[in-house]
Amino acid sequence: MTGIDLGLLASLFAIFIYVFIKHVISAQYKVYLFFHFFMMIWPVGQIGVHTTEQPHLQIAYITLSFVGLSMLGFGWLLFAKFLVSGSYYKPNRSTVLLLLAPSILLSAAMIWNPSHAFVAPVHGSYEERVYGPVFWSMILLLITYFVYSVQLLWRKARLLSDRTDKARLVNALAGIIIVFALPVVDLTVNVILDPWLPVIPGITSFGILLSDIFFLTSLQKHRSFDLVRIAQQDVVDTLSVGIIVLDEHDVVIEVNRNVCPKLGIALWKPINLTAILSAHALQPEAGEAFLLEFRGHASKRLHTELAIELPNEPKQYLSLHTAPILIGGSLKGRVITLQDITELKSHVLKSQEQNNSLQERNRALIYMQDELFQANRKLEQMAVTDSLTGCFNRRFLMQQLEHEVQTNLRYRIPFAILLFDIDLFKHVNDNYGHLVGDEVIKRTAEAVRGALRRTDILARYGGEEFTVYLPHTSKEQAEMLAQRIREVVESNEIPAGRGRAPISVTISMGMHVVEEQTDIQIADVKSYLRDLFTKIDTALYRAKHNGRNRVVNH
Ligand code: GH3
Ligand code: MG
Ligand code: MG
Repeated sequence: MTGIDLGLLASLFAIFIYVFIKHVISAQYKVYLFFHFFMMIWPVGQIGVHTTEQPHLQIAYITLSFVGLSMLGFGWLLFAKFLVSGSYYKPNRSTVLLLLAPSILLSAAMIWNPSHAFVAPVHGSYEERVYGPVFWSMILLLITYFVYSVQLLWRKARLLSDRTDKARLVNALAGIIIVFALPVVDLTVNVILDPWLPVIPGITSFGILLSDIFFLTSLQKHRSFDLVRIAQQDVVDTLSVGIIVLDEHDVVIEVNRNVCPKLGIALWKPINLTAILSAHALQPEAGEAFLLEFRGHASKRLHTELAIELPNEPKQYLSLHTAPILIGGSLKGRVITLQDITELKSHVLKSQEQNNSLQERNRALIYMQDELFQANRKLEQMAVTDSLTGCFNRRFLMQQLEHEVQTNLRYRIPFAILLFDIDLFKHVNDNYGHLVGDEVIKRTAEAVRGALRRTDILARYGGEEFTVYLPHTSKEQAEMLAQRIREVVESNEIPAGRGRAPISVTISMGMHVVEEQTDIQIADVKSYLRDLFTKIDTALYRAKHNGRNRVVNH
């Protein structure tokens, strides 16, 4: 019996050393080695019990053996969880403690062995022994671990489509069944049927060795032990892009370190894109459109943007792309990539801000331009207008006439020019003051303007003298208009202030009509106009001389 156990111990130790030398130690190998260590405890205890006559040392060896065995159950479960979950599985501390607690409690009970509740010696020696309820509880616990682990591996193996992955799990399953079945045989033959059957040594030890080989094979087949795979993982993890791989049910089957932890993406859980987008979509409408497309057009590449804002952290912008994984035309999953575009976005936002301020400045410039234009128009108007009466000024009239007269003569268009002066205006000024005098000049101009046609031009010639240019006007029409103007002024009553009778003024007018003139050749329009105005001035003088309030045609 000791020889078999010694052989098992040596083999297990050899495998232990082999694994250390041969493999890159990853998390799964650590679990395996931990598991392996407990496997080695069994033969150590089995050997030890035969090396001494002293009962207290014997019980120590037996307890060691069974403590190791009780830990195996936990070892299976943890190992099974690793195999099922892949290389990313990170068991959290509370799960581990919860799974380990029953084994620890029972180990404590075995070590304590109250009233031989675990094991009792026969004839004072533990080489032959009787097991108590603590032992059977440990067996029950092992069965529970066994059923749970087998169920885990079996469910996963059934789901897998990849043949190597499936084989790996089936291998581990076989290992667990063997490591469980052979101790059961051991128990049946050497404990239950002990009175009737001879003791067959090493059944449990053999089972442990066999299952260890199965577990190791299963590990060897696992792709994550491949150096290339580890290297690939390293590359994926060091990429600045976040990568998430989803299966056909949108369950996350791979996620690298660069996926923002704030998005709450967990391995082996379905991804909740609705929650992610409703919390972080840069533009809510775009996020909704993305979700619609994501659900509807399974085989489309999609893109949207996220903005992640957390207190005390700078805002982060992410560009999210999804691409389908199509095998033979059917959707088998999707790859989601997340790229940090914070820097790019901040440049875009900055240039948008600059653009906005430029537009603002542009608007201000346009407004200024408009104001300038209005001011210019006002200036232009002021340049041609008399400020007191609002009529054109003499400069404008002369400019206009220089142009008009030439055309009129060339095309023989009749026209007339009137020049009138308010009669005895000095008296108005003297009697009513200059302000009232100004008012009289203004009101007179208004009254005259009301009697004119739209095309006639009224201009203030100087002091209280005005000129009227009548284009397209015959002699008769001109004389009629002149009389009308004179009458309008004569009948115009201008208020003279409180308690004073309104003022009425008259005008004297000189006029000249240019009509049906043939063969008029003008070399210099300015001197022509000077001559013309001399004539009109003379006519005005005659009107004054002849008694005022009349029109004289030259
Ligand atoms: P006459 O019938 O001969 O024209 O007599 P008059 O008093 O009107 O004499 P005249 O035309 O020579 O004098 C015009 C006066 O009008 C002289 C000047 O003091 C006054 N005057 C000229 N321009 C203005 C003005 O803008 N406002 C006022 N209140 N008075 C003016
Ligand atoms: Mg005058
Ligand atoms: Mg006058």
